[in-house]
Amino acid sequence: MHNCLMPGCMRPAINSHSIQKEKHLRLLSENGRVLCPMSDKIAEHYVKSGKYRPKNLGIKKATVFRGFCSYHDNDLFKLIEVDSLDYYDVDLHILFALRATAYHLAFKKLQLHQTVRNHGLLRSENLESLNRVFAELLDEISIYSNILNTLYVASTSKSGKPILVTNVLELNSQSPFATTSPLNLQFDHKDRRINCWETLHTPLHPLFVSVFPDSGRTYIMIQYFQSDFSKFCLFVEYLATLDHYYLGIQLSNLILSHSQNTF
Ligand SMILES: [Zn+2]
Repeated sequence: MHNCLMPGCMRPAINSHSIQKEKHLRLLSENGRVLCPMSDKIAEHYVKSGKYRPKNLGIKKATVFRGFCSYHDNDLFKLIEVDSLDYYDVDLHILFALRATAYHLAFKKLQLHQTVRNHGLLRSENLESLNRVFAELLDEISIYSNILNTLYVASTSKSGKPILVTNVLELNSQSPFATTSPLNLQFDHKDRRINCWETLHTPLHPLFVSVFPDSGRTYIMIQYFQSDFSKFCLFVEYLATLDHYYLGIQLSNLILSHSQNTF
């Protein structure tokens, strides 16, 4: 049983799509199914696998997570659950980051749950690495819970400066995938440090990346906190100067190496 991620809400979480089913996933599907190109990150920690295992999922299940109760799910995201989306509407931008964060947080909680469940199956020599996994997951869950709260409070505030910087790039062809996720990059394109996993108690600086195919075009939303401007402005400027071919390559690499929510 998972409860709603909203602070203080004890209602059970329902299944929600982190990427619109009828608008985006339907475009990518074949016979109602889509491929998830990621290997199983959960198993990666303790199974010697190295296998490439794309998941073939029906669009009813793809990108689904248990994050919010039915009340909060409808209430928070009704403005971006519409047929005709304006990707340049600044009032909507924070909702995309909020939903990407919720998916990531729910995914990390699920990883923790599965790690706990598998604990009993492990031999003692694995305990040290398992403890490290526990510590990392707990830290990341705590950090992303705070990020979720910050975004939620900002999304309900009708005044003041936006807390996110949002860049929207547009391609004149339709990408064969969709994604929405916070990425924890370690370095930018010039090898400047962004995040350091060795010191997890320092704040994380997430870069929110969403890619949506829509009506023969692709809308790419790249977002970060205003407070992280110095860490990301040059990197995002660099992405915006790339021609569409190289932008596609850069984004594909970023997403495949850092996102768990790509279809
Ligand atoms: Zn709720």
